[in-house]
Amino acid sequence: AALLEAEAVSFTYPDGTRALQNVTLSIPEGKKIAVLGPNGAGKSTLFLHFNGILRPQEGWIYFAGARISYSHTALQQLRQQVGIVFQDPDSMLFAASVRQEISFGPLNLGLSKEEVLARVEAAMAATGVKDLGDKPTHFLSYGQKKRVAIASVLAMEPRVIIFDEPTAYLDPRSTREVMALLETISRKGTTIILSTHDVDIAYTWADYIYVLAAGQVIGAGTPAEVFRDA
Ligand code: ADP
Ligand code: ADP
Repeated sequence: AALLEAEAVSFTYPDGTRALQNVTLSIPEGKKIAVLGPNGAGKSTLFLHFNGILRPQEGWIYFAGARISYSHTALQQLRQQVGIVFQDPDSMLFAASVRQEISFGPLNLGLSKEEVLARVEAAMAATGVKDLGDKPTHFLSYGQKKRVAIASVLAMEPRVIIFDEPTAYLDPRSTREVMALLETISRKGTTIILSTHDVDIAYTWADYIYVLAAGQVIGAGTPAEVFRDA
């Protein structure tokens, strides 16, 4: 079944940039989906629709079969279930320490202290930042910040996690580590969407690929189908 769907979504920024034009696609639950396309294709704009930060000017977004109503409650639920790891970790980190950063989301969910603690510890272990708990986030390396950003989304335990260009600016070793982490998260059943302009990553990693260019879906299929003619 589809967990997230965009149906005929169009979106134009206030300056007139047509970022999405009649985009229809569906994200099957539990799968690894790559959104492949060059800079400016509309990948980030699509993702901002998926967690309700942007609202379609035309068309609809569906989560678990239900059309998003954009009421306060619906948006809260959507943002809880659709986590985004943005490309630039500095845009996501604001707390004084790593542990506080990762605790922030779960605390806001109103969970018990014990549950928050358990989630934070699990997220720190999964991302390899266990020893950094008391560190101020601004002293971390770029790769460490990336991990903390991922941990803070993991601790929310969303049903889908979107990774916007997760390997951008990472060296080959960090790239392998991040991809291995995505594999671990996927094995636990979490649906993963990743954007990339790296054809190799899309080909080797994804169950299904959507190709975006100039705000439109220009290709879709399994890696074998999408690259059959390439
Ligand atoms: P991608 O993530 O594939 O690089 P984006 O969704 O970021 O693509 O951008 C799609 C198009 O929208 C691009 O032409 C980009 O320059 C433009 N765009 C993105 N954000 C804004 C914004 N806040 N205001 C105006 N144009 C924007
Ligand atoms: P997009 O592809 O979504 O348009 P950009 O390529 O412009 O995004 O950059 C995304 C973010 O990554 C920027 O906000 C920038 O601060 C950050 N960034 C750019 N280059 C580097 C770098 N070499 N190291 C760390 N962060 C960077």
